Amino acid sequence: MLAGELGQAGVRTLLLERRAEPSEVAKAGGLAGQILELLHFRGELDRFCEAGGSKGPEAVPSLPFGGLQLDFSQIPDPPMQVLRLPQPQLEAALADRASERGSEIRRGHEVIGLQQQDGVVKVEVRGPQGRYEMATQFVVGCDGGRSRVRDLAGIPFRGTSLPEIERLASVTVPESVTLLDDGGLQVDGIGRIPFGYTATERGVFACSGLEGRLSVYTAEVEAREYDDAPMTIAELSASVNRVLGVDLPLGEPLRMTRFGYSAKQADTYRHGRIFLAGDAAHLFPAGGVAVNAGMLDAANLAWKLAGTIHGWAPPDLLDTYSDERRAAAERTLLHTRAQVALRRGYGPDGDALRALVLELTADEQPLRRLGALMAGTDAGAPKSQVHPLVGTFLTSRALSVQQGDPRFAGMLRTGRLVLLDLADRPDLRELAGRWGEHVDVIRATIDPPPADALLIRPDTHIAWAATSQTAVQTALRTLREALSTWLGTRPHQRTESPA
Ligand SMILES: Cc1cc2nc3c(=O)[nH]c(=O)nc-3n(C[C@H](O)[C@H](O)[C@H](O)COP(=O)(O)OP(=O)(O)OC[C@H]3O[C@@H](n4cnc5c(N)ncnc54)[C@H](O)[C@@H]3O)c2cc1C
Repeated sequence: MLAGELGQAGVRTLLLERRAEPSEVAKAGGLAGQILELLHFRGELDRFCEAGGSKGPEAVPSLPFGGLQLDFSQIPDPPMQVLRLPQPQLEAALADRASERGSEIRRGHEVIGLQQQDGVVKVEVRGPQGRYEMATQFVVGCDGGRSRVRDLAGIPFRGTSLPEIERLASVTVPESVTLLDDGGLQVDGIGRIPFGYTATERGVFACSGLEGRLSVYTAEVEAREYDDAPMTIAELSASVNRVLGVDLPLGEPLRMTRFGYSAKQADTYRHGRIFLAGDAAHLFPAGGVAVNAGMLDAANLAWKLAGTIHGWAPPDLLDTYSDERRAAAERTLLHTRAQVALRRGYGPDGDALRALVLELTADEQPLRRLGALMAGTDAGAPKSQVHPLVGTFLTSRALSVQQGDPRFAGMLRTGRLVLLDLADRPDLRELAGRWGEHVDVIRATIDPPPADALLIRPDTHIAWAATSQTAVQTALRTLREALSTWLGTRPHQRTESPA
C-alpha cells in the first residue's frame, strides 16, 4: 500500500520481503471501514472489487463485537462497509499496484541491520546471493508484529498479550449436522446449538451454518506456543470439546487458522529516518480492524514522505504522521480492549455486561458511534473550533451524499490535497490556487451542502472547512493557515488544476 502511494506521488520505492513467495495464508477475509471510503474517493475501488470477485462494498447487517453480534440492519447507511477480499488476493492487488507505479519488489531479501548516519539509513540485507548493504533516505518498517525494523530502531512496543488461543475454521457439513435457517445447527445425538457466541467456564465457542458451510470458532486460555504449526481437525475438535463439552462432528477443512491477540502500540512511529506502519506499529486484540488501520497508516505517511523527498513539505510535517496515527490507534485500542473485557466476562456479571451493551446498541446513536470506531473513522471529541468536520475523515456520510455517490468517486485521484468548493466561492478558490501545484480545486453541488468548502488531504483527513455562516475574513485566514500547515507557507506558483 505504501509503495503504491509513494509511486503515485512520484517516489520510487524498494520493497524488501523476507519470504521468497507470497503467503497463501488467508488471514484477513476482506477490507472494511475507512479504507473503502479512501479507495472510493481515489477512484481505485474497482481494482480491489475485481481482485476479490465481488461487485463492491456491502453494508453487513450484523458484525461481531466482543462476543456480541451488533445489529446494524436498523441503520440505513451503516458506518461499517465490508468488501470480501481474502488477504492473499489483497496482497497480490497491492503488489501489482506498487509495481505499476515504479516500485521494485525483492522477494527473499531480509533486512538484518539498520544504521542511521549522515542523513541516510544504511540497510544490511540478507538475500539469495548473500549479504549486501545499501544506503537510502528513509526506511519504513512494514514488517509485521515482530518487526525487526522496530527492534533495530530501538522503538519500544508496549502493551499486553492475551494468553488466549483462538481457532477459526470453515468445514464441510457432515451428515449428522443440519444447518438451520437462523444460522444455528441441529446435531444428531447433541441437539440444537444456537448461532453466535456461547461463553462457558472454559472459553468461548461460536458457530455459524450460513452459506452452506459450517464455521466454528473457539477461544481458550492456553499458555502453549504453536508458532507456525498448521492447525488440524483433531486439534479443533479437542478444543470444541474442552469449551463446549460435546464432540461436535466436523467435515473436511475448507479454511483453518489459529491466532492469539495482543494489545500493543509502538511508543513512536518515527525514529529519525526510520518509520513504522501496520502491525509493526500496532496490534489490536479483536478482529476486522488491523488491515484498515495499516493501510490508513500508509495513506497518511506517503504524501508527507513524498513532500519531504520532493522538498516542499514544511519541516514538521513528517512528525504529524506518528502523532496522528498513534492517536487513531489509541481509538482502535480503546474499542478492541473493551471487546476483550466484554467477551472474557464469564458468569452472571459478564452476561449482564453483554446484555447491557446489547441494550444500549439498540439505540442508533451509540450503535453509530461503535460502528464508526470499528471503521476507524471516529477520531474522538471534535478538536476544531472552525467546523465539526475538521479533524475527521471524509466519508460519503460526512458529505451528506449516498454511499459511493459516483460524482465523488476519484475526487482524490491525483493524491494531492483537494479544495472542494460546494458554494461557488471564487475567493477560496483563488487562495487555494496559490498552492496550485499541490491542490486540486473541485467544484460540486450538494443539497444541502455540509459546508461551503472543505480542504481534504490525500488520506481523506478533513483539514479545513467553512460554512456560509463563517465570516469571509475568517474563512480566508483559516484556509490560509490550513494550507500553510500542510503545504508550507511559500506561495506556490499558480498552475491550472483539474476540476
Ligand atoms: C488468523 C488471522 C486472521 C486475521 N483476520 C483479520 C481480519 O479479518 N481483518 C483484519 O483487518 N486483519 C486480520 N488479521 C490481521 C492482518 O492479517 C494483519 O493486520 C496484516 O497482515 C498486517 O499487515 P502488515 O503488512 O502490517 O504485516 P504482515 O502482513 O505481517 O507483513 C509483514 C511482512 O514483512 C515481512 N518481514 C518480516 N520481517 C522482515 C525482515 N526483517 N525483512 C524483510 N521482510 C520482513 C514478512 O515476511 C511479511 O510478509 C488477521 C491475522 C491473523 C493471523
